[in-house]
Amino acid sequence: MNRFIKTKVCFRNDDVNILTPELVSLTNILINRGISITHAVEPCNITVETIDWLKKMKEDLPNLIEIVQHGWDHSWHDKGEFGGKRLYEEQYIDLKCGKEIMEETFGIDFFPMLVVPCDCYNKDTIKAVSLLQYKVFSVHYNYRTSRRIFYNIGHLLGKGQLFGRHISNHLNYYPGTQMFEIDTSISFIKKYLGYNECEMNSVKEITRAFNVLKKQIPVVSFSLHHRLHNKKIHIDLFTSVLDELQMMNNVTFVNYEKIYQEYTKSH
Ligand SMILES: [Zn+2]
Repeated sequence: MNRFIKTKVCFRNDDVNILTPELVSLTNILINRGISITHAVEPCNITVETIDWLKKMKEDLPNLIEIVQHGWDHSWHDKGEFGGKRLYEEQYIDLKCGKEIMEETFGIDFFPMLVVPCDCYNKDTIKAVSLLQYKVFSVHYNYRTSRRIFYNIGHLLGKGQLFGRHISNHLNYYPGTQMFEIDTSISFIKKYLGYNECEMNSVKEITRAFNVLKKQIPVVSFSLHHRLHNKKIHIDLFTSVLDELQMMNNVTFVNYEKIYQEYTKSH
């Protein structure tokens, strides 16, 4: 990676449904620093209160708030909401309903990007997502060598999945589709201890991962789950990571739509 090119960083916050103090505080931490946050909304579960809050935030700070779709209702089927053996027709209906709600609710403020819950999907999900004309598909990129070798095999074969596992095509079109893929590569969560409880990675672990990633890819996206930043130690961790990132002079903060525009304009 050219050392003069700045690494682009974005933050995707998943599981947006009810309006909670954690949702508001995590958003405020980023926007108060002038950093954009991308909220992945569960269309079936978002409340009127959250819709009103998100719309107001977007109106006040259009460049710092981004609104995308996180599946339909976040329910568990065969494997996640969309993976395993779940049938095409069911997936298509859920995604279509979700996209229609997002469009009706947020209008042009909805950026048509789909985040599949739990990173699970199958080939029928891709068929449905492609037909529904999402611009961006967001899953996960893993920086480990073994996984990157696996990705390279998938790339040679032109596949989006191999043996049911995701092949990251980060910053490229998902094979056989018009959907651009922008994957997240860093999570704060180390281990779930319950729905609202988890052990998080340390600042050192997160910055170490970031430093490896920025040598591999020009866009590094963090995945956030606001409900888990529910105690001081987890809020402090988040602000410490932001301090570290903001101290690096070869880092710039963007949102997904800007990345999409930049990488697809010449295609
Ligand atoms: Zn989720």
